[in-house]
Amino acid sequence: MQITITKSDKLKQRPDDSNLGFGSIFTDHMFNMDYNPEEGWHNPRIEPYSNIIMDPATMVLHYGQSIFEGLKAFKTNSGIIRLFRPTDNFKRLNISARALCIPKVDEDFICFALKQLLNIEKDWVPNAKETSLYIRPTIIAMDPFLGVRASNTYRLFIILSPVGAYYKEGFNPIKIWVTKNHVRAVNGGLGNVKTAGNYAASLYAGEEARKNGYTQVLWLDGIEHKYVEEVGSMNIFFVIDDEIITPGLSGSILPGITRDSVISLAKMWDLKITERKIGIDELVDAHESGKLQDIFGSGTAAVISPVGEIKYGKKVLTINNGKVGTMADKFYKAITDIQYGRAEDPLGWIEEVII
Ligand SMILES: *Cc1c(COP(=O)(O)O)cnc(C)c1O
Repeated sequence: MQITITKSDKLKQRPDDSNLGFGSIFTDHMFNMDYNPEEGWHNPRIEPYSNIIMDPATMVLHYGQSIFEGLKAFKTNSGIIRLFRPTDNFKRLNISARALCIPKVDEDFICFALKQLLNIEKDWVPNAKETSLYIRPTIIAMDPFLGVRASNTYRLFIILSPVGAYYKEGFNPIKIWVTKNHVRAVNGGLGNVKTAGNYAASLYAGEEARKNGYTQVLWLDGIEHKYVEEVGSMNIFFVIDDEIITPGLSGSILPGITRDSVISLAKMWDLKITERKIGIDELVDAHESGKLQDIFGSGTAAVISPVGEIKYGKKVLTINNGKVGTMADKFYKAITDIQYGRAEDPLGWIEEVII
């Protein structure tokens, strides 16, 4: 399939790399592609970044049939643009598509289209330390129809956003709030896929956390409200007595690519790493006995996010005196060094953008 390219004749003023923030600036072009049952996925095109005009009855607006991905492109010191594990993102996009009755995409083709888009937008990949170009592939249901069923037509698009640090505080420990009243997802639901509704479902508890002075919510399982699942929209790791523990993929946890990267590096380094259920009470006990050494979240946006404090009911657990733990620091450095080309890529995670 040939990708049609229409260049924008009015280029935007590019922002200063040193003050990017996250998710509010978008590049000059985007990738679009449509689906209908007759033609399948068709009309792949790179066009000026623009609004999507929709009928108010468009199904995605009413029934939330929407999936997305999040990945990043990095620029090395020598100006080469690199993607981190893009194939895994497009595989996961298709897993999400299956879960929401959205037609599958050709993963290799979408990855190729992304590289073409990046080739056009290469000057938008920022250079300053810790900056990158965040990539958001999305698929939405487009039938103008009221009634619950899977849509017949879809739009796939990819937009790009130059970003700095995800948290304004930078690589500093965040404070997290354990919610007992709300759950993010249950096994059998959609917690293991990246669909819009999951994030809508997380907002109320997120506001509650923020009102109490906490940055993110620590989610417990939906059935017993006992086992730890994720933190905000990151996976979570604990270091207890020199063992790294992360909740296993229960069905309601998002299988993060950063999570998998942490696990793979830990195994490569012969560290003790275990995927298993971990109860909030076990954490409290480990903290009381002085064995809880480190907690951190993992996700594309922040890479690694150290946790300095947990609030659970009346208990406040301070982790590592509120400082960045050694493991959080070790994984952050290792992953970002691979991403920016400051270190070898021992596990074959990097794809360079060469067209
Ligand atoms: C995207 C996401 C993650 C992290 O996945 P990565 O592939 O590492 O970015 C974790 N939890 C949730 C709920 C997510 O949406």
